Amino acid sequence: MSNPRVGFISLGCPKALVDSEQILTRLRGEGYQIAPNYQDSDLVIVNTCGFIDAAVEESLDSIGEALAENGRVIVTGCLGARQDEILARHPQVLKITGAHATDEVMDAVHEHLPPAHNPFIDLLPPQGVKLTPPHYAYLKISEGCNHRCTFCIIPSMRGDLVSRPIAEVLHEAETLAASGVKELLVVSQDTSAYGLDLRYQTGIWRGREWKSQFHDLAEALGELGIWVRMHYVYPYPHVDAVLPLMAAGKVLPYLDIPFQHASSRILKLMKRPAAAENNLERIQAWRKICPDLTIRSTFIVGFPGETEAEFQELLDFLTAAQLDRVGCFAYSPVRGAAANALPDPVPEAIQQERLARFMEHQAGISAARLQRRVGRIETVIIDEVAEEGAVARSQGDAPEIDGQVFIDGVTHLQVGQLVQVEIEEADEYDLWGRLV
Ligand code: SF4
Repeated sequence: MSNPRVGFISLGCPKALVDSEQILTRLRGEGYQIAPNYQDSDLVIVNTCGFIDAAVEESLDSIGEALAENGRVIVTGCLGARQDEILARHPQVLKITGAHATDEVMDAVHEHLPPAHNPFIDLLPPQGVKLTPPHYAYLKISEGCNHRCTFCIIPSMRGDLVSRPIAEVLHEAETLAASGVKELLVVSQDTSAYGLDLRYQTGIWRGREWKSQFHDLAEALGELGIWVRMHYVYPYPHVDAVLPLMAAGKVLPYLDIPFQHASSRILKLMKRPAAAENNLERIQAWRKICPDLTIRSTFIVGFPGETEAEFQELLDFLTAAQLDRVGCFAYSPVRGAAANALPDPVPEAIQQERLARFMEHQAGISAARLQRRVGRIETVIIDEVAEEGAVARSQGDAPEIDGQVFIDGVTHLQVGQLVQVEIEEADEYDLWGRLV
């Protein structure tokens, strides 16, 4: 008898991707095959996203497509918190779970598609099943969030912060490194809050006691000798302690900090973490400790009540902060978010006009920041080798979201290899270099 086959659709952010990897790992561990299309699947799991309305629609459409093409569908992920909405559109789904619910998903799979006896389950790779290329992997350190940003419904979908104990995280990181992963991307909803719910409880790894806390996590991961990149960090004072580790080359000199705005009134309306901190001073202090620090951020323009003066304050912040990589969205209401009730929505035409001004303003800054690197020698990681040459990333570029470094005409390198290049050219996003 052949093994039961499960199709899998994974939507959403890196946190959802890690959930998908955990479910796929369990499925493979129990002998299920992962089928590449609906026709070859005995049932289909759809891991949904519910962050903004467009993502909700995409998730509902994906469930509909899986039902039409296959007929047997289990739904998991963020949108699972809105059962009624899913059932109203797709009453025939077999089961709905929330995010980060591997056990519940597996129970539903067992019920609707019992596993075959498989003596070869040990063939599962020890690092589990990864959806990322073999040379980098996401490391999820916690789930949920204690903040209540008014534009966000993640806490209502994923609950309060639940951190993984430090020893568990470090063992997973070590296994990933041993399996050939060259870069770890640390993700969560709020990486700087790591361990708060555990009261920073300690754990033993490599014979030493470590706290479940941001600094210890960074220091311990730094011992693995691979690239470690920190995402979703908030500018709290305790983050300062990680900067010397970056300056010493233990973890990448890179911080992904979603500032979202610069006006203190708007930040308060958004109920942002660290809203009362002086972000500009903090950035300047960090750059003194670690001059090569790359800061990536995202912003929202046209938040309810944002005045022209407050928007201008944001542009002035960009000029002063000289951030390296910046994404920006025009505010759009998310069903269930508290911000929907705020007065004075900004008309869409003004939102779009501000978005365009923001992007143009930042493009000049990003381009100038990259231009400063021309002539430098930098270590880059190879992501892809094609006929025209190699495509790499610098320490300042996270996969998928930042820029790339093109090394034209070089085809003998391996994916995941670290090489040195002299940067010869830059535009707004990408760099071009020559192998040294
Ligand atoms: S920090 Fe704010 S935006 Fe981020 S997950 Fe928590 S509530 Fe949402």
